[in-house]
Amino acid sequence: PEVITIQELANRMAEKGSDLVKSLFKLGMMVTINEAIDQDTAELLVEEFGHKITRVSDSDVEIDHDADVDADETMSPRAPVVTIMGHVDHGKTSLLDALRGTDVVAGEAGGITQHIGAYQVQVPSGDKITFLDTPGHSAFTEMRARGANVTDIVILVVAADDGLMPQTIEAINHTKAAGVPMIVAINKVDKEGANPQKIRERLLEHEVIVEAMSGEVQDVEVSALKKINLEGLVDKILLQAELLELKANPDRAAEAVVIEAKLDKGRGPVATVLVQRGTLKRGDIFVVGEQSGKVRALINDKGKQVPSAGPSEPVEVLGLTGVPSAGDKLTVVENEQRAREVADYRRQKALEKRTTMAPTNIDTMFSSLA
Ligand code: GDP
Ligand code: MG
Repeated sequence: PEVITIQELANRMAEKGSDLVKSLFKLGMMVTINEAIDQDTAELLVEEFGHKITRVSDSDVEIDHDADVDADETMSPRAPVVTIMGHVDHGKTSLLDALRGTDVVAGEAGGITQHIGAYQVQVPSGDKITFLDTPGHSAFTEMRARGANVTDIVILVVAADDGLMPQTIEAINHTKAAGVPMIVAINKVDKEGANPQKIRERLLEHEVIVEAMSGEVQDVEVSALKKINLEGLVDKILLQAELLELKANPDRAAEAVVIEAKLDKGRGPVATVLVQRGTLKRGDIFVVGEQSGKVRALINDKGKQVPSAGPSEPVEVLGLTGVPSAGDKLTVVENEQRAREVADYRRQKALEKRTTMAPTNIDTMFSSLA
């Protein structure tokens, strides 16, 4: 697809159009000055003439998260973010519910449990743990493919009466590929026929060597149904979290990741986000994927409005212009103009990706040639 005319490219490089035509002749391309050329050819010419290409995305519009590093002294400990994976019916949902019951503040707050895609518990020791409620395997890999590595620790649930099943092995592979530490929760130990030792042995075949087999992967026997040894599992999560030394700067403009999003009949577009650094506040202006907005309200996993949410806290955000996608990054910016600029730019780029490129795209392809 053609992206720019030779004359236009020559203008931007402050070269003569006829020189560009000559160059192309030498390469065996018979073109006239008003003809449009494709991106590869344009880039070839730019290099040939000793110029550099500056793309709009890299410099002018996009937010450069990586360049924005927090200094060590700004960092504070944050709660671990945990995803539960495992074969169907091995007890993922039951375990999530049981762990939710370990929260010491749920009762006092008087809130009603809301399923917003993630929740945070405070365990009796005072430590907090965030659990992702939805992911499952495809969401986990999809988020990762989009560059959103939100999970710090994976709990692999294996039913002691069933053994390693296809989705167990899939979960092991995803976790390894993500480089995320794993804790094996051998569930349903209350059941007749439960054989935890057999699970540990079978895991060896997949190079998961648990502590009980002198390896380094923590394992724990639990019953989600009978609530046996949930404290043991919590302790292992906290121990693993300590080893990871999880930290974030809470005192800065917030960055968060969308866990799930939907269009709510009464409330409009709603996104559950997990704050990764900074503190998200009511009134903050943000860009999220191809959408932007201003935080109208923040609602926690107990259904309560909160004024702000810090690192590792999941919260529902109201006040978006549209529904973003899971895995999209939410970034707080200075003002509405900036938010709109970034969102518009991303929308245009996405559109270009979907449609064949037309000459109207040249402005975003080559912003400046120096
Ligand atoms: P998921 O598909 O992995 O989310 O599994 P569920 O949490 O829906 O559990 C599947 C079935 O196993 C349900 O009938 C649960 O009641 C049962 N279950 C889950 N955990 C336990 C457990 O620890 N012991 C026993 N006996 N049953 C359990
Ligand atoms: Mg389930």
